[in-house]
Amino acid sequence: MPEGPEIRRAADRIEQAIAGPLIEDVQFAFEHLQPYESELIGQRVLEVETRGKAMLTHFDNGLSIYSHNQLYGVWMIRPKGHFPQTRRQLRLAIHGDEKMALLYSASSIEVLGQEGIKNHSFLRGIGPDVMNKATQKQTLKRRLSKQLEKHKRRRLCGLLLDQKVVCGIGNYLRSEILFLAGVHPSQRPVDCTESQLKLLAKLMISVPEQAYKTGGITNDLKRAETLKAQGAPKSQYRHWVFGRKNQSCYSCGETIIKSTFAGRRCYYCPTCQNG
Ligand SMILES: [Zn+2]
Repeated sequence: MPEGPEIRRAADRIEQAIAGPLIEDVQFAFEHLQPYESELIGQRVLEVETRGKAMLTHFDNGLSIYSHNQLYGVWMIRPKGHFPQTRRQLRLAIHGDEKMALLYSASSIEVLGQEGIKNHSFLRGIGPDVMNKATQKQTLKRRLSKQLEKHKRRRLCGLLLDQKVVCGIGNYLRSEILFLAGVHPSQRPVDCTESQLKLLAKLMISVPEQAYKTGGITNDLKRAETLKAQGAPKSQYRHWVFGRKNQSCYSCGETIIKSTFAGRRCYYCPTCQNG
């Protein structure tokens, strides 16, 4: 399941492929969307915005294609005219001047105007997105702090994965953020100190941001580099705790524990995260 940084990187690839030049063709598989094809052809794609697991491909005539990949949807970028060999169902094709952005298998596709975006049931229901480029970091941090305050009696392990509270944090980011904050997964915001809460709000932005820039590395970058140079596999140098069951904590040497919290596997250091 892709997390915020991976979705943002997918959106970047689509942007690089089709944003800018006039769009030469748009094809929807769903009949009720086909009337929009002629409205979108000849327009430009301005940007591809991500909101949680949803994407908004904004065109310069004010229309946007909303897509949510659910579990099976996948975008593929190909040179124009070169469709991939796949059994997947093509649901949407956007042809730029050199490349095509193809969306396969996704079931949730809509065309929305400004009002439609504002009133969209999924988009209205989700919390602040830690990967949203349009929101200033200070504003985002304030919103995240508010969410932590609002849900202060819920355990952080569940809270961080709840898209209604915060978007863009998936399973590996959850373990990493809690480790760096020195907070046990079963702690609630109400059990945290003021400075832990401040740190949490900060890390909820900076950890996904680093993962986005580095292709998923949340570990200290110097350490990751050293370990990589020593021949360690990516699974070993990528994270502080995630996926490192029974191995030594990079910070204190204690053995990392794997457990299940809020239905998903979670890794933590019992010494660094004892509250
Ligand atoms: Zn430790």
